[in-house]
Amino acid sequence: MPIDPRLPYDENNIFARILRGELPCNKVYEDEFALAFHDIRPQAPVHVLVIPRGPYVSWDDFTLKAPDDEIAGFNRAVGKVTRELGVDRPGYRLMINMGGHGHQEVPHLHVHIFGGRQFRCMICD
Ligand code: 5GP
Repeated sequence: MPIDPRLPYDENNIFARILRGELPCNKVYEDEFALAFHDIRPQAPVHVLVIPRGPYVSWDDFTLKAPDDEIAGFNRAVGKVTRELGVDRPGYRLMINMGGHGHQEVPHLHVHIFGGRQFRCMICD
């Protein structure tokens, strides 16, 4: 079910628990601003999620509340992960689902990195 992005941050959401090391993940990268790991149900040959370390429900919450150094550090981390994965050539797709219409399911901001194949249609449903 999509989340309600107006709800306060849930400290026990799945990604918060992964950040605290309470649940496992297949980690590909971490630094002071971000953690990246493989999606449990990959939708492409490469499907990695990048999450900020801070408690942000959504992209909306992050861009409203996060300090500039966290926004810059998180975005740099996303770029670094794409290069480390080797998807920067020939290219990749980034996706952020936000709230109900965006069909966001986990209430902790995450950027999807999709790669490893040619993408065509922008929105396929
Ligand atoms: P959303 O629809 O919120 O943008 O995407 C949530 C993503 O999180 C989905 O692609 C889903 O497969 C992934 N996911 C959900 N639970 C887990 C988990 O416990 N571990 C990992 N690695 N991915 C998860």
